Amino acid sequence: MLIAMPDAVDTSPNAPDLPDAAITALTQSKKTLEKLLRLGICTEMDLVLHLPLRYEDETHVFPINNAPEGKAVQIEGVIVHTEVLLKPRRQLVCQVEDGSGSLCMRFLNFYGNQITAYAAGKRVRLFGEIRHGFFGAEMVHPKCRVITQNEPLSDAMTPVYPVTAGLHQQTLSRLINRVLNSPHAPSLLSETLPAGIIQRIRLPGFRESLQTLHHPPPETVAASLQNRTHPAWQRIKFDELLAQQLSMRLHYRQRRSRRAPRLGRHPPLHDAFMAQLPFRLTQAQNRVIAEISHDLDSDHPMQRLLQGDVGSGKTVVAAIAALQAIANGYQAAIMAPTEILAEQHFQKLSAWFAPMQIPVAWLSGSQKKKDRQTALAAIESGTAMLAVGTHALFQDQVNFHRFGLAVIDEQHRFGVHQRLALRMKGMPASAQAPHQLMMSATPIPRTLSMSYLADLDMSVIDELPQGRSPVVTKLVADSRRDEVIERILHVCKQGRQVYWVCPLIEESETLQLQTAMETYETLCKTFSGLRIGLVHGRLAAQEKTGVMTQFKHGDIQLLVATTVIEVGVDVPNASLMVIENAERMGLSQLHQLRGRVGRGADASVCILMYQKPLSEIARKRLRIIFELSDGFEIARQDLHLRGPGEFLGARQSGIPMLRFADLERDGALLTAAQAVADEMLNHYPDRAQQHIHRWLGQKTEYLRV
Ligand code: ADP
Ligand code: MG
Repeated sequence: MLIAMPDAVDTSPNAPDLPDAAITALTQSKKTLEKLLRLGICTEMDLVLHLPLRYEDETHVFPINNAPEGKAVQIEGVIVHTEVLLKPRRQLVCQVEDGSGSLCMRFLNFYGNQITAYAAGKRVRLFGEIRHGFFGAEMVHPKCRVITQNEPLSDAMTPVYPVTAGLHQQTLSRLINRVLNSPHAPSLLSETLPAGIIQRIRLPGFRESLQTLHHPPPETVAASLQNRTHPAWQRIKFDELLAQQLSMRLHYRQRRSRRAPRLGRHPPLHDAFMAQLPFRLTQAQNRVIAEISHDLDSDHPMQRLLQGDVGSGKTVVAAIAALQAIANGYQAAIMAPTEILAEQHFQKLSAWFAPMQIPVAWLSGSQKKKDRQTALAAIESGTAMLAVGTHALFQDQVNFHRFGLAVIDEQHRFGVHQRLALRMKGMPASAQAPHQLMMSATPIPRTLSMSYLADLDMSVIDELPQGRSPVVTKLVADSRRDEVIERILHVCKQGRQVYWVCPLIEESETLQLQTAMETYETLCKTFSGLRIGLVHGRLAAQEKTGVMTQFKHGDIQLLVATTVIEVGVDVPNASLMVIENAERMGLSQLHQLRGRVGRGADASVCILMYQKPLSEIARKRLRIIFELSDGFEIARQDLHLRGPGEFLGARQSGIPMLRFADLERDGALLTAAQAVADEMLNHYPDRAQQHIHRWLGQKTEYLRV
């Protein structure tokens, strides 16, 4: 799933990172340099910010017979016996004694020179986990170092760095130290936070924190280093979050500083619209409308993301926003990601706006040339005050007369470039930018939107219209198809309608299409008495619309569909949905699909059919979708299962992900960073720039608008 990415960041191509001069001079070896690059290290700053993955405690030696189990420990002893066993498999086995007991160390993979290095009589220090096997205590593949008697113990925890093949811990450690101790370290690692702020947030200095994390002083509490609660870690995480906040907010401010047409409220038109609506708005809808309305009534462009669960009623909010633009003599455009959805919006909005004599134009990639010309002319002359369509809306031939508001529905499905293109369709003469409202049915957990989407204002509809009955979800193994068939017949007999969603086949669209056709044919045979339709992504737009209209009017009882119906489709009389091979689908997709039913007042059912055996992750997903119906809660679980990178679809967009901060655990730091970011942008803009540069380095290029 892709979410509204901050435009600035996701326009970035995956720029090839190049090592800078300082690091090239530092490493002095082309091979090492290449390996560092593989770790994403191209500057000295990257190097010192390459922080330990974990720490090993080599400050103690445990007696063998009294060493704790279940954690890595250091022991020291003398090898009394070494041999290469051939059974059950080839391995090097050494017996080590320390006076308290004896332990067997095993290497399943080993070099010939280890046999001599670990010969009997050698004194060794081992680091690893002790297990009690059949032959007593043993360590498998411990870290093993031959030492002389009385060699001093390390007095600090040993950092373990993330490495790549062929790059040793020691090499990294040495390079990092060289930077930390270099004469220019004080300027390189200078403090970016003003003293007052440091004092208030009660965290250690930047340079001091790095020093601690790379070389923990002997008295450091080991656990706080490992679980990253140590103040030094907190400082680094805070800085990382702050950099993110600063760049996002800066970017927000830059866009915000542009001019936009001021679109004030127009109560008469608004009231007229409300009077003819067949329902009353929910409190949540009213609240977000007020937020949007307030933004529109400003001469800077709105940049707002409206989140609301499936069925929460975002379309009417968009319509009311459009109305405010229109009331001021400005045009609005509503763009949807699929033809089916765009068409549906067009019908709904035309119906709502017809009584108010507001002409609506329709633009799609597949319409007849003549219709298209007419629509384009109406948009250009300004007779059409609202344009609804697919991405056809932002092609070059589309020229708005006075463009005031762009609404992008299900915006996560559009590419960034498309979103940008629509926004740029401002009015060239006045160099004004249109207001922008993005809508997403994928609720975004709060910490995620506070961090990765901090360059947008948020509105959230957290309430569903009354009179919806919750959808009952059933999990049914594929083997119980017969019961499902029964159920479908029953539902159709009662005059209700059914969706049958075909399996998603990610690897091949052709295969998916084929499966859909086959399913359609099989179901036609099974239900010879029912009126059945088929809709999929490859149908010509007109055919698609035709099928959807028939379904909407009840002429089709059972609609066999691919996941094209996932977004936005609204047919309240459909009360049963069957999803085949539900185990293949992601959580948000399942939630979206399920949202197609339960739109009327009658009880609806969603049957998730699955095929055994289920993978661990599929089992978890099905359990979540079975147990939960709240989109926000499902999104939180989804985030938990997949992590922020996958959840945001960040891989495709090249957005820099957080490396150290964990949004689930570091919520308090995030809140603090948010406040400090504002303060710094207002009062210490130079420091803010310096901080952004330190953390985002070359990436700051993309943060410019
Ligand atoms: P979504 O947020 O998923 O886009 P829609 O805008 O498609 O939801 O709305 C879902 C359905 O609920 C539509 O039929 C819409 O007309 C209806 N609806 C919207 N707001 C309300 C409301 N306040 N009361 C009753 N029905 C509403
Ligand atoms: Mg919608």
